[in-house]
Amino acid sequence: MTHTFDFDLVVIGGGSGGVRAARIAANHGAKVALIEEYRLGGTCVIRGCVPKKLMVYASRFAQELEEMRGFGWQADNVRFDWATLRQRRDAEVARLEAVYRTNLLAAGVTLLEGRARCEDAHTVSLTNGTQLSAAHILIATGAKPAAGPDIPGHELAIDSNGFFDLQTRPERVVVQGAGYIALELACVLQLLGSQVHVVVRGDALLRGFDADVQTHLLHALQEQGLKFHFSRHVTEIAKADDGLQVRLDDGTQLPADCVLRALGRLPNSAGLGLEQLGIKLDAQGAIPVDAYAATALANVYAVGDVTNRVNLTPMAIREGHAFADTVFGKTPRMVDHTLVPTAVFTTPEIGVVGMTEAQALAAHPHLDVYRSAFRPMKSTLSGHPGKMLLKLLVDRDTDRVLGFHSVGPDTGEMAQLMGVALQMGTTKTAMDATLAVHPTATEELVTMRTPSVRHNI
Ligand code: FAD
Ligand code: NDP
Repeated sequence: MTHTFDFDLVVIGGGSGGVRAARIAANHGAKVALIEEYRLGGTCVIRGCVPKKLMVYASRFAQELEEMRGFGWQADNVRFDWATLRQRRDAEVARLEAVYRTNLLAAGVTLLEGRARCEDAHTVSLTNGTQLSAAHILIATGAKPAAGPDIPGHELAIDSNGFFDLQTRPERVVVQGAGYIALELACVLQLLGSQVHVVVRGDALLRGFDADVQTHLLHALQEQGLKFHFSRHVTEIAKADDGLQVRLDDGTQLPADCVLRALGRLPNSAGLGLEQLGIKLDAQGAIPVDAYAATALANVYAVGDVTNRVNLTPMAIREGHAFADTVFGKTPRMVDHTLVPTAVFTTPEIGVVGMTEAQALAAHPHLDVYRSAFRPMKSTLSGHPGKMLLKLLVDRDTDRVLGFHSVGPDTGEMAQLMGVALQMGTTKTAMDATLAVHPTATEELVTMRTPSVRHNI
């Protein structure tokens, strides 16, 4: 490569997408710099997927402790210590951050600290005044928690970043929102012993998910002790003698020690100088890109949450990788944003891939719905009342499996494998031909013989 610029590529943002793009571009022979203003690893590693999943693991021991009695175990005087979990979680996050640094340096990437801004299509400046010239610029600055409505006392609430900074476990918690983050963190806190109220502006959880999943999860969470306030808004948060007082629009007052708002995330695109360069952001602040991650400005690209398409770590990684292969590896690669396996790490967990029943019906009227809700074998002795939900959507005309939806233990793991099956275009006949693994919960998937609903027969 010719080096008329300081770098072939300057990456802004050291999260999932930026790190992958920088490393792969460097492997392709590019001279790469990566600028990060906070900590390497980005949202996922520092204050997202990783510390969250560690907290989820911690919280589920509470359920195990209850269930083990039915198997003859005694677990008296068992205590949980938030400070120990926090310290060990943060140490793991720091270890991973160091691994990211080592891997980037080993790939030959120059690492710079500070907040970056684009001066023109080939110049990036840092807050300390440093300027770098670049043949290509990749914006991978991610997203940040949406602040939400400016109600009185909003500054007394925390967001998901604040959750990871909590020094002690709050006893009484009000969570606002019903998306991934609100429900995952509500479950963690509730299982660790907090009383949790969830305030939802609509009438369902997890908008966009299959309706059976929404209702199954709601019943499970209510059974577990979470309190829901549907079609309600928080109108005020005020200080009280013993903590906080949260007022809802119907006048309900909820005493709390912590108010957690999880109202979606907004692209981190402000202050990057993009609009001055002619890159018009969308209404949410996302950077519009084409199928190859190119923005409206030649040589400037964007991947990950800042483009606000599928805001998940594996997608940011894939987009970053595809960008590097396309621009530096002479292998143009587009990313498929359609068949996305995903898990919600509530307890019980959700695992899905493919169309919801409503989406499938819109395009495939001859739809068979195979649905099974059953008590997992472990519950027979543990006494846990929760049922597991497994659901398959099959197009009768082609026999293709269009969607998989599940609620229950390890369903995130199931979604990963069902993702492979759907990616390969699996049919119901192929699933029926697959031998069961016994005794497992997943065997139900290959033994569902009779549709519970046959649409448009
Ligand atoms: P990020 O990882 O956010 O990285 C962007 C980086 O850019 C940040 O480090 C930021 O500091 C830096 N930056 C921003 N502006 C500048 C600037 N001007 N100059 C320099 N640096 C800058 N996804 C999953 O797939 N599974 C999960 O279980 C999951 N759990 C989550 C839990 C939580 C609580 C949250 C908040 C998110 C979770 N996500 C999960 C989503 C996932 O974290 C994101 O989709 C992913 O991190 C996006 O990667 P990215 O590279 O686009 O951005
Ligand atoms: P989501 O978009 O999932 O959920 C936002 C929630 O906030 C919705 O319930 C929404 O309600 C509600 N809301 C939005 N604005 C308001 C408002 N003004 N007043 C009241 N309620 C409001 O966002 P999250 O912040 O939970 O997560 C962001 C993204 O991060 C996820 O979409 C996902 O892509 C990723 N993520 C992935 C995880 C995983 O893979 N396990 C875990 C965590 C995050 P409504 O439905 O009515 O709009």
